[in-house]
Amino acid sequence: MKYVSTRGHAGRPEFCDILLGGLAPDGGLYLPETYPRVSRAELDAWRKLSYAELAFEILSKFITDIPPADLKAICDKTYTAQVYRHARPGDDAAQITPVHWLEKGRLGLLELSNGPTLAFKDMAMQLLGNLFEYVLDKRGETINILGATSGDTGSAAEYAMRGKHGVRVFMLSPHGLMSPFQRAQMYSLQDDNIHNIAVTGMFDDAQDIVKAVSNDAAFKAKYKIGAVNSINWARVAAQVVYYFKGYFGATESSDQQVAFCVPSGNFGNICAGHIARMMGLPVAKLILATNENDVLDEFFRTGVYRPRKAAETRVTSSPSMDISKASNFERFAFDLVGRDPKKVAALWAEVDAGRAFDLSGTPEFARLGEFAFVSGASSHADRLATIRQVYEQYGVTLDTHTADGMKVAWDHAAGLPAGVPLLVLETALPVKFAETIREALGHEPERPADLEGIEKLPQRVEVMAPDVEAVKRFIVERV
Ligand SMILES: *Cc1c(COP(=O)(O)O)cnc(C)c1O
Repeated sequence: MKYVSTRGHAGRPEFCDILLGGLAPDGGLYLPETYPRVSRAELDAWRKLSYAELAFEILSKFITDIPPADLKAICDKTYTAQVYRHARPGDDAAQITPVHWLEKGRLGLLELSNGPTLAFKDMAMQLLGNLFEYVLDKRGETINILGATSGDTGSAAEYAMRGKHGVRVFMLSPHGLMSPFQRAQMYSLQDDNIHNIAVTGMFDDAQDIVKAVSNDAAFKAKYKIGAVNSINWARVAAQVVYYFKGYFGATESSDQQVAFCVPSGNFGNICAGHIARMMGLPVAKLILATNENDVLDEFFRTGVYRPRKAAETRVTSSPSMDISKASNFERFAFDLVGRDPKKVAALWAEVDAGRAFDLSGTPEFARLGEFAFVSGASSHADRLATIRQVYEQYGVTLDTHTADGMKVAWDHAAGLPAGVPLLVLETALPVKFAETIREALGHEPERPADLEGIEKLPQRVEVMAPDVEAVKRFIVERV
């Protein structure tokens, strides 16, 4: 499989060439040259597979430059019930992403948050850790991953990379601004290759330091600085797998369709759903849910894509969806404009200059229906009401992001064809956002037994002023 840039760069790299990098040289994002099509016979055969077997079948269509036996071993090692051990009582952890029905056959949660850090990012990041180690070992190379996090991404990256040869992680977080649980998750890691830096500033200060270090080309090359951000193609590819697994979990025959509702921020998760559908998965609707930061909902309703300024980005109680522009959206736009890189380059010339683009009234926007997308937005009051209603009606506690999804799913349920099961993707477990759960329900969310008392473990973190040179020195002293 060869990959193309959404902006038309002439290179045709393969999977391992783009695994450790970020953007294409022209600033575009990589996508497969064509989407592999899955036959009806394959769908029928895949229904019986374990998650790891299914992951191998799907990923081997996208990854043709790793010997199949090696890829198989990587999938087997990644997708185990020991790693994804936080299934709800009564659900089968061996399924990795079990469906938890609220109404049997009609409305369910696709459990994506049973991994070590209790958010769906573990689904892809754990695979990435094993792929990085494999490719770096083969090439005799090393990488120093530098990132900034306000919670979910940083912890998922650290749990995926801990103890991996050839990989060091330097993760910046805003000092004192994450919840005690989130701090404990990250800072209690004692692995030699994981370095937590708490910056005395806001998330944006941490992010600015990462940008400044990465923009220093000489430093970046000399110290092999890399990233694991949401535009990484391997993360999107890994996420395609659970759309298939969720489909098999929710249907009895491949004549049936399902609908997915996806709490969205950077468009990474739902981009994988779009690709699964393009591969031939019978998807009736992809329902995109945003919080108050509704840049994507606005596009799917109106055709106007208007990235927000930092000052316009709201801080909400579903913080992992607080984005001003959706970094993966360019991948969908490429398909929407008929895979014409010139059109994408023209649209993103606007976006990169901080301006909006407007596709309303164009043939491209008229094609949106072909891609099965609908959208909606949720607010803090909606989240609280949804968490309460789901708890009262079904005895299930949702996290705040999944609650945004449930709210928007309810809004669209009536528009689905009869008999189509609706799966809401559970993107985190409620214990990560305990403050809002207390506000909604008046009590603490349940906590997995193996994470009891995590706040009391010894922590390893370096507190630092938001100073680019100090962060560079810290890295230099440790590589
Ligand atoms: C990252 C994240 C999201 C948003 O996912 P995207 O791939 O950025 O759309 C939603 N919910 C939670 C809990 C997350 O961590």
